[in-house]
This record gives sequence, C-alpha cells and structure tokens, in this order.
Amino acid sequence: VAALVIGSVGLSACGANDAAGGGGGEGGDAATIAFFLPETQNARYETFDRPIFEAKVEELCADCEVLYFNADQDKDAQAEQVDSAITQGADVLVLDPVDGEAISASVADAQSQDIPVIAYDRFIDGADYYMSFDNEQVGRLQGEALVEAVGDTGRILMVNGSPDDANAGQFKAGAHSVIDESGLEVVAEYDTVQWEPGNAQQFVTDTIAKVGADTIDGVYAANDGTAGGAIAALTGAGVAPADLPPVTGQDAELAAVQRIVAGEQFMTVYKSIKTEAEKAAEVAVALAQGEEVSDTEDFQGVPSFIFDPVVVTQDNVQLLVDEGFWSVEDICTPE
Ligand code: BGC
Repeated sequence: VAALVIGSVGLSACGANDAAGGGGGEGGDAATIAFFLPETQNARYETFDRPIFEAKVEELCADCEVLYFNADQDKDAQAEQVDSAITQGADVLVLDPVDGEAISASVADAQSQDIPVIAYDRFIDGADYYMSFDNEQVGRLQGEALVEAVGDTGRILMVNGSPDDANAGQFKAGAHSVIDESGLEVVAEYDTVQWEPGNAQQFVTDTIAKVGADTIDGVYAANDGTAGGAIAALTGAGVAPADLPPVTGQDAELAAVQRIVAGEQFMTVYKSIKTEAEKAAEVAVALAQGEEVSDTEDFQGVPSFIFDPVVVTQDNVQLLVDEGFWSVEDICTPE
C-alpha cells in the first residue's frame, strides 16, 4: 500500500478508499418529500447533506420525488419555501431551520394539514421527529481539545455559532462547561451572526486591534467556517502560519482538513453526515408511506435520533479517509 506523506502526517492507502455506491431503488409508493437546508456558506450542505439524502430516498423509494430548497440564510425565504412545498403537495418535510423559533408557525401550518415535520440537524420545538448529533458533546470535545493544546493558563477568544441556531447554543454551553473550569481566560467572545466566516474574521480582526495578535494563545471556533475566518484574521495581522495558536473547528470540511494537515488548524469535529442524512431519508420515506418509526430516544419532548461526534486532529486524520469522507487525493489537492 502506497503511503503518502503530507505535512507531518502519513496517510496510507492513497486514493483506494472511496465510499461504495448504493443499490437500485426498491419501488415503494409514490410520495413527495421536501428537504430544506439553511445556507450555502458552509460547505457541508451542498457537498454532503443534499446528495446523500437524495440518493438514499431514491434507493428506498424509486417513485418518491424530493423537492429541494436552500434558504441561503434567509429565514423569511425559508418560510416561503415551506409554503411552496405544501402547495406542491409535499407529504413530509425534512427541515433544517435557519431560525428554529421563527419557523414554528410554518411547522404548525404543515402539521395542521397532516404533513409531518422532521427537524434535521437543528432542533425545532414541536417537530414530529428530530435527528442530530450530541451537540453539547461537540462543544465539550472542542473545549477539551483546546484546553489540552493551550495548557493550564492562556488567553483565548471564543467565536461561537449563530444566535438563531439552537445547535450554536448547545456547542457554546458544552465548550463553556470545559473552558470555564480550566485556567484559560476568555479575552473576548462573539456569537457569529448567521455563521458567516466573514463576520468571524471581522470579530477576530477587531479584537486583535485591541489586544494584539501575540497575546492570543488559542481560539475556540465553533465550526470550520468560523475557524477559517479566525485564521485569516490572524495571518492577516502578520502571524506566520507556523506560529498560529491552536484553533478548533467542526464539520471536517475539506479546507479545514487541509489546514489541519498543514498544521494551521488544531482540530475539527467529524460528524458522519452520511449517518444523519440517510437516517433522515429513511424516516421521511417511512412516514410518507405510513410506516412506523422505531428506536427513537427523547430529546426535549421530540422522538429523536442522536449521533456521536468524533474529534479529528493530525494524529487521526486517516479516519476521514477510512470513513470514505475524503480521499487522500482530495486532502492532498489544494482547493
Ligand atoms: C451545524 C454545523 C454547521 C453550522 C453552520 C450547525 O447547525 O450543525 O454542522 O457548521 O450549523 O451551518
């Protein structure tokens, strides 16, 4: 097996590990399933969630149609998309909300017409089902990794997720539960409006202007997009890539994995989007066909499926190749 060495990390099985394709459709009653994603700024949605979901629906039900919508961070547009899906005859909604509270009227509207709603990745109070990762655990893993990397004392910035995303609050609570018990001092903290990497970059740039880049020993960034913004701010302020402080992330998006391999980002959190999107497709098809959904657990009163997140650093980046998430070629070819 060829071993390819990139940065200080050896990845084996070069290019030999792509995910296997699915089987053919099994028929099933025709149904219309609407799938709503919140934004396109972070890479996961169009790269993984959408194609995996669509492929799994097709595999389970050749006669099912998926209506796909992306709200591009606009909560009002998302409410209109829900209306439009209902008008187009959707039998089930799989909904990753831009704003979990703002969308509740649309959810109630669908339910009043006997259209079940599955909250996808981000919680919606009153949804029929919910699936996501253990998001407080995501925050704890990020916090623990940062404390370990920075050490017993140090000054850090916290770049959280968007205030209108329920997940962001859970990531933040999990991270604080670890960081607040450590010797680290939070110099400044920001909730990144709409998860925009550019907003994260602006916050870090402004903070550097006040405290100086060389006084920052670490950055808690809630996801890879905000991590990219924080790193751009630091390098923009003259920090050499080799001197970057530890920065956390989440999503294992390709740019972040490349930064981890290059030693520019300390860690990310891998969430198997395949597991999540395929479960969403299974539940949606089952509901559309009037079948039972079993093996759920309770999350805040909603029957749920909760999956486990995994830390990725330079030490175990091979895991992403083994999982078929990225190939060595992807990782080795700069975007
Ligand atoms: C998701 C993250 C994503 C973020 C920004 C969160 O709700 O769980 O995976 O990075 O939104 O879209």
